[in-house]
Amino acid sequence: MSFLSRIFRVFGNSRTEGNETIEIPRVGNKEPVCPHCSIALDKMPGRKKKCPSCSEFIFVRTCPEERVKVLVREDQIELIEKKWAIENGAHEQFLAENRDREAIKNQLMSQGIDSPTDLDVKWQQLKASLPKLASEYKWGLYRNARLGMGDVLKKQGKLSEALDTYLEVCFIDLNGPNNCGTKDPEILKMLPPFDPKSAFLAPGVLGYIEKMCKELNVKPEDLGSRFISLSSEVEHQLKLPISAEEAWKELSGELR
Ligand SMILES: [Zn+2]
Repeated sequence: MSFLSRIFRVFGNSRTEGNETIEIPRVGNKEPVCPHCSIALDKMPGRKKKCPSCSEFIFVRTCPEERVKVLVREDQIELIEKKWAIENGAHEQFLAENRDREAIKNQLMSQGIDSPTDLDVKWQQLKASLPKLASEYKWGLYRNARLGMGDVLKKQGKLSEALDTYLEVCFIDLNGPNNCGTKDPEILKMLPPFDPKSAFLAPGVLGYIEKMCKELNVKPEDLGSRFISLSSEVEHQLKLPISAEEAWKELSGELR
């Protein structure tokens, strides 16, 4: 931690609710100082901008304790949002989520993971949500959960697994997932679980795939067989209307 961010890192609010006390560290710089490299900026940015010195993104949020603008890193946004959730009276939900997180942490530790990280917990939460979303025919949200799992793998540096997950997301996207929320056949006639006519490939995901193929040195022809083999399984599992081969024709046309 840099000298300046150490100065600004003052431990903030402690709240007592029932017999539970939560200590939440205070985050963000009230002064125009980059939260990454601690360089002094010309003026306080009004919104998200790149640091002229370290080129990292600086985010602007309002500090819930003092109601002033603070400069934070992307990884600190969640903490600020949690604080706002408390401020806005969503404290009960916050506690429930905390308990859920703790339960998952304990579960992971019982499986032999010594000190599960927030990313481990997030991955587990997303994974656990899949069967429920599938059984409720919420295929758009199912796809989002798989995307979230890919993001966790990417942040953990598990690039090969992340690439496979992003390829799966593209395959689901090419099948046009819908959030039906029901298995009522009358409704499914109008809103099918998958409708390739509403297919859409997310440019962000395509960008991740291109970048990872470069980093992992995956050749285009190998990417095709990789996609088809993993998608064939998903096609069968989720009963998708577009085949893996057809989807690859579409996807390969979109990738550079
Ligand atoms: Zn900087």
